[in-house]
Formats: sequence, structure tokens, C-alpha cells
Amino acid sequence: MISVDDFRAEARTWLPAHLDRRGTATADPHTAEHVAEHRAIQRRLFDGGFAGLTWPAEYGGRGLTAEHARVFQEEAAGFVTADFGILSVTTFGSCVPTMIRHATPEFLARHVPRVLRGEELWCQFFSEPAAGSDLAGVQTRATRTDEGWRLDGAKIWSSLAHLADWGMCLVRTNWDVPKHKGLTWFGVPTDAPGLTVRPIRQIGGSSEFCEEFLDAVPVPDAERIGEIDRGWSVTSTLLVFERGAGRPGAVETPDEPAPMPADLMAVARDSGRLGDPAVRQRIASAHVEVYVVAQLKARIATMSRLGKADAGVAAYGKLGLAGATAARARAGLEIGGASAVAWEVGTGGAAAHSFLESKKPAIAGGTEQMQRNGIAERVLGLPRERAVDVDLPFVEVLRRAREW
Ligand SMILES: Cc1cc2nc3c(=O)[nH]c(=O)nc-3n(C[C@H](O)[C@H](O)[C@H](O)COP(=O)(O)OP(=O)(O)OC[C@H]3O[C@@H](n4cnc5c(N)ncnc54)[C@H](O)[C@@H]3O)c2cc1C
Repeated sequence: MISVDDFRAEARTWLPAHLDRRGTATADPHTAEHVAEHRAIQRRLFDGGFAGLTWPAEYGGRGLTAEHARVFQEEAAGFVTADFGILSVTTFGSCVPTMIRHATPEFLARHVPRVLRGEELWCQFFSEPAAGSDLAGVQTRATRTDEGWRLDGAKIWSSLAHLADWGMCLVRTNWDVPKHKGLTWFGVPTDAPGLTVRPIRQIGGSSEFCEEFLDAVPVPDAERIGEIDRGWSVTSTLLVFERGAGRPGAVETPDEPAPMPADLMAVARDSGRLGDPAVRQRIASAHVEVYVVAQLKARIATMSRLGKADAGVAAYGKLGLAGATAARARAGLEIGGASAVAWEVGTGGAAAHSFLESKKPAIAGGTEQMQRNGIAERVLGLPRERAVDVDLPFVEVLRRAREW
């Protein structure tokens, strides 16, 4: 295997010859144009041998270590690399790493090279109208057919499904066993016959997530991820990745944060309150929180590299980010006062917009309450939450629920 130093030298030569330098402008990664442009950048990275650094070589990756991935992050920081926004997280951060642990070699040989070439982006078909925190309660069903399976049901809150190529989909294959024991995962193309993907307009005006309706969607058995009815073990792997642990190359020594949070400074300046001692305290607190969350994430990245981060540990990072985001958004409104919540259409409103968006990290990938449950049970060893439905066949759970 190439040494880390030689790899650093290779990256240092390759990067300026093949990628643009990063400017100060930030583009919205969640548009069709941006995604198309960045698929081409992903292809360039693949052709240069800089895609899937820690993924197995037999599937197009480079089979290197987390240390190599970290070094590449450092070297590439000043260049425009492929950025699909949330789809980068779902594809490269959670779906494919989970597949690598659970899917068949044939499945991986078919999909992973396409992902690395920027030809396949994956979204997550997990949540349903009646199953979010209780993910094991999904009711989308897969039934056997001569050709494979047919899927019927509904999914919701699937981030960027309208820009993705495939969805990683959790369904029920057995209704006569307890809920965790009758689940199976499949890969489903977002343009499959019978699948309707509909973007949902959010309170902040954007449409990042979608709802899906599955009406006799045909799926070959070759697109199954993991064993039939054993989907919960796949889910357990996935949730650790989704909560931000186990990602090779994650930053372990974050940069020092900028001296003060620039957006809050702008709100304070615009409302003439930069000299207000209470406002200065709020801005300093927000600065400290950014610093603490970055250090926390770095510590989790180190624990992941050492194989010591499970879903309980990952919960700290999620919880930290959720708390800091909400506090910062609240600070923006409090500092700006009336001027932060009223604005001309098309101008300003950044503080109010941040406030509307600030709930996302407290819900996405498992709510704050579920993270606290995880820490209580997995880390602190407190008694498990009482559950009345885990030992009953799922059909019986549904029957009793109808009678409550
Ligand atoms: C920005 C964003 C992106 C998302 N992206 C995706 C995606 O790509 N794919 C996908 O499948 N889903 C996605 N989701 C959905 C997300 O995973 C769910 O919203 C989340 O798991 C909560 O489920 P729910 O909305 O059904 O709420 P519920 O589970 O109905 O919870 C409602 C409230 O009850 C509380 N609660 C529930 N159970 C317990 C308990 N046992 N103990 C204590 N409190 C409890 C919750 O904390 C919450 O406050 C996304 C959500 C957001 C906000």
C-alpha cells in the first residue's frame, strides 16, 4: 500500500492540475445544474484515483486507510471537490458504507463503481407517515413475485429524492413476527415504474425533501441489501453512519473557528447593537458552541477510526449540533429583534430564515429525544424504555392499535 507521505505528494501534484481552486462564493448544492456539474467533478476524481479512498479496490475504491482519507481532505481543502450537499452525506456517508458491509459482491460490483464515477446518487427511503422514530414500525410491504418482489406503500421526508438516482428502501417482508424481525432492505431506482416522487415545500420556501408513493413497484431480488427479514441488523449499521460516526477521513483536528460568528455579527451591526454588552455575550457564547461542537465531532471521528464509536457515541455529536444550531438561530432573532423577523420579499431575512431551518438537525436522522434515549440506554446503562410491542407479531400490534 502506498505510504501516507507518498500519497500526500501524489495528491499535491494531481489536485492543482485537475481541479479548480475554491473561491469564496458558495453555490446551492441542491439544484439539478449543480448536481450535474459535480457529477463531472466526481468522475474526474475517480479517473485520478481519488474517489472511494477507503472503499474496497475490487469495487473501484482505492482500499486505503482512514489516515489516507484524512490527508486527502487536508490537501483538497482549497479545491472544488464533488459536493452534492445532503446527497453526498446519504450516498457516500451512510448508504454505500452500509451496503459494503451487508450487500452481495454482485450488488456491490454493479453499484459502487457507478457511485464512484458520479453516475449514481442515493437517497434514503426510510421514514413513513406512521414510522419515524419507531423505524421498525414501517408498513411499506414487499411481496414475492415470479420476477422478484413488488413494493407497495408510502415513504416521506426523503432528502433530495427528486435529484437522486436510487433510494435505499426499508420494507416489511414478514408480518407474523415481531416488528424488528420481518424487515428487509432493497435498492429502488427513483424512476422505477409505479414510484411517484413528490417534493414537499418547506416552511423556509425550499423543497429539500420529498414524499413517495409506491404502487406495485417491481424490484428484482438482486437489488436486495442484506438477508430477507434480517433488515434490522442492516439498520443498526446504517444508523451509526447516519448519525455521523464511522466516516473515514472525517476531520480529527478541526481548524480554529473564526474569531466570532460572522452572521451574528452582521445581524448585530445591521440592528445597531454591536456595542450592547448583552449582545456581545450572546455572540461570544455562539462562538464557543461552534468550537465545542467541532471538537466533539473531531473526538467522535477519532473514536470511529479506532473502532470505538457506536450509535450511543454518535448520538453526542448529533445532539451537540442540534443544540448549537437552535441556540445560534435563537440568538440571531433576539439580537436582531423586529428588524430580523420583518423584511422585504427577496431581501434580507437571513436571521428569520436560519430560525425556520434550525429545527432540522434536531429531527433529521433521529430526534433529540431519541438521541437522549440512546445515550441513556447504550452509554449510561439505564433501564431500557418500556415497550409493549416488541415481542408481539406485527399484525397483532396493528390489530391492537386499531382497538386503542
Ligand atoms: C431535514 C430532515 C431531513 C430528513 N431526511 C430524511 C431522509 O432522507 N430519509 C428519511 O427516511 N427520513 C428523513 N427524515 C425524517 C426523520 O428521520 C424523521 O422525521 C425522524 O426520525 C422523526 O420521525 P417522525 O417525524 O415520524 O416523528 P415521530 O417519530 O412521530 O416523533 C414525534 C415526536 O415524538 C418524540 N418521540 C417519539 N418517540 C419517542 C420516544 N420513544 N421517546 C421520546 N420521545 C419520542 C420525538 O422525539 C418527536 O419529538 C428527515 C427529517 C428532517 C427534519
